[in-house]
Amino acid sequence: MARRILAAGNWKMNGLQADGLALASGLAAQRKSESNAKVDMLVCPPFVLISKVVDAVAGSGIMVGGQDCHMTEKGAHTGDTSAWMLKDTGCTHVIVGHSERRTNHGETDDVVKAKAEAALAAGLVAIVCIGETLEERDAGKTLDVNRRQLLGSLPDGATAANTVVAYEPVWAIGTGRTATPEQAQEVHAMLRGELVGKLGQGIADDMLILYGGSMNAKNAKELLAQTDIDGGLIGGAALKVDDFMTISHSAP
Ligand code: PEP
Repeated sequence: MARRILAAGNWKMNGLQADGLALASGLAAQRKSESNAKVDMLVCPPFVLISKVVDAVAGSGIMVGGQDCHMTEKGAHTGDTSAWMLKDTGCTHVIVGHSERRTNHGETDDVVKAKAEAALAAGLVAIVCIGETLEERDAGKTLDVNRRQLLGSLPDGATAANTVVAYEPVWAIGTGRTATPEQAQEVHAMLRGELVGKLGQGIADDMLILYGGSMNAKNAKELLAQTDIDGGLIGGAALKVDDFMTISHSAP
């Protein structure tokens, strides 16, 4: 199975209904006019917009995902959303362990792993995020930190069909500072090697490893040309139809 590039948009906590619907319909309209798209597209809107976005992109092939999920199926968890609810609403994917969740909500590798396992149990693809801080990079700990987070956060039962890894250096998220293609490829290659050891060559060869951190319409081509970069998890640039479409046209 050849790896097919995935452009995943993380809208974070942005957009009221009119904004989200305009974005979703704009993307869907352009995507529908493309007969031979080389890149898969996913959008992850805020929870309250998911249903409407699912309707707005229907028939375009654009997939919809959640930005987080709870680790259990249901119960007394005020304010939380389960992976089963996301699946029921039309989602195919869910992001887990984004650095903003790790930082703002104290999510550990164990929590991220449990959330990813809930995603798999619900029939969703888990997008498992990892990444080092600037302090960790400056201290020469980049590879160690990412190795530890990968092995600690990967769900049991991970396959190339149900799990995607997203390498997102924290210092590059929303800062306009992008990892160079070489910096990103170095980490991605290490991650691929770890996946071989953990899951076997076949699964590791097929599993998508996305890069995230200020990917935009200008730098996407160079990043996506790297051997082990299989797509992007994109924040700011995914909020503009033209930029996100340009990224989706940047596959090598
Ligand atoms: C992200 O939200 O995962 C992200 C990478 O954001 P940005 O593209 O804005 O840096």
